[in-house]
Amino acid sequence: MCFIFSLNRYLLLLKSKSCLPNSKSTMVRCFCGQMAIVRTAWTDKNPGRRFWGCPKEVSIDVDSTCGFVGWIDPQMCERSKSIIPGLLRSINKLKTEVGKLKEENQMFKYDIGKIKEEKSKLKLYLICSWVFFGFVFFLMK
Ligand SMILES: [Zn+2]
Repeated sequence: MCFIFSLNRYLLLLKSKSCLPNSKSTMVRCFCGQMAIVRTAWTDKNPGRRFWGCPKEVSIDVDSTCGFVGWIDPQMCERSKSIIPGLLRSINKLKTEVGKLKEENQMFKYDIGKIKEEKSKLKLYLICSWVFFGFVFFLMK
C-alpha cells in the first residue's frame, strides 16, 4: 500500500512534467522491467479507472503479469463507485440484446431473400399460366 502511494506520488510528478497519459514520452517500468502500458480497471471498486500495468497478457484463466499497478486517475468518490458498475452492467446487457437482435435481423433478411425468390417464381408461373390460357382460348376460337 505504501509502495503504491509512493508510486502514485511519482506518477503525479511525471504528470506535472508531461501530460500523462497522452504524452508518449512518459515511461513507466513495471516490476519485470518492461515498459508499463495504460490499462483500465473495470472492477466494482475501480470502474473505468486507468492505471499503468504490466504489458504481459492478462486473461481470465491465467494472469502472467507481475502485478504492477500504478494508478493514473484519482480514486473515485463512493457515489461514482456505486453508480458506474450498474451503468456498465446495463450497457453490457443492452449490448447483448443488440447482438441478439442483429442475429435475428440477419435471419429475417435471409427469410426475406427466400420469400422474394419464391415471389419471383410464382410471378413467372402466373405469367406462364396466363400465356397458356390465352393460347387455349385462342385455339378454342
Ligand atoms: Zn511486468
